[in-house]
Amino acid sequence: MTTREEMAEAGRVLTLVADNPGPLTLDGSRTYVVGEDPCLVIDPGPALGSHLDAVEVAVGAADVAAVCVTHWHPDHAAGAAELVARLGAPLAAMRQSTELAALDPPEISLADGAEIDFAGGRLCAIAAPGHSPEHVCFHWLDAGALFTGDTILGEGTSMIAPPEGNMAAYMNTLERLLELEPSVIYPGHGPPIDEPLRVIEEYIAHRREREHQVLAALAAGAQHIAEIRARVYPQLDQRLHRAAEGSVLAHLEKLAAEGRVAGAQGAYRTLE
Ligand SMILES: [Zn+2]
Repeated sequence: MTTREEMAEAGRVLTLVADNPGPLTLDGSRTYVVGEDPCLVIDPGPALGSHLDAVEVAVGAADVAAVCVTHWHPDHAAGAAELVARLGAPLAAMRQSTELAALDPPEISLADGAEIDFAGGRLCAIAAPGHSPEHVCFHWLDAGALFTGDTILGEGTSMIAPPEGNMAAYMNTLERLLELEPSVIYPGHGPPIDEPLRVIEEYIAHRREREHQVLAALAAGAQHIAEIRARVYPQLDQRLHRAAEGSVLAHLEKLAAEGRVAGAQGAYRTLE
């Protein structure tokens, strides 16, 4: 297994934490500068001048093979246009929105399995829908490192809520990431994960448990999302109700697609 120390010898991974802390961003969005020359930048981060300055300093005089974007949420990608302009580098992302088309520099439109060469070897794009449809994880093949954006966080769990979030897709993505057997995960928020397989398995178990709880709430007579939320997340801070209800809805949509739950006009029932 490759340790982070060995990886530091193989090629650097520099971490820049943006000054945008919050309940969803933890201590702030993380931008990674990977490899020597040419290097890669993974997730530009928010459009904060101080953050982009720090990324530029970390890159130094090296060429940048690509600025890679895991997904288009502003805390990861709002700084993309300015950063690619500053670095003179192409942007690599999965095409989803007009944001990408609006950028001038040469761009790399990623598909699943696309590879980018840089001084550290090869970075492979892994389509990872779930948190958002166009989410990509980046697998640094030579080091066994996985850059997971918002698919897996350094602490807590990821936000999966419709309309962008899709729980069925997310569960498939987690299974796929497990098969990659990464030796370290660099998340979009929070510290690196040195036991990725354990953490990915915990993520899968956590969602299965929530699904059981949603089905149990339905079986106990809860019909509306707020009722289900109250049973699945008892004594939850009121400020988090909306987020929890988004997660409940994501589970309901997955169960409905599997024919295990039926719902109309916001009232759901189990078919089991
Ligand atoms: Zn996100």
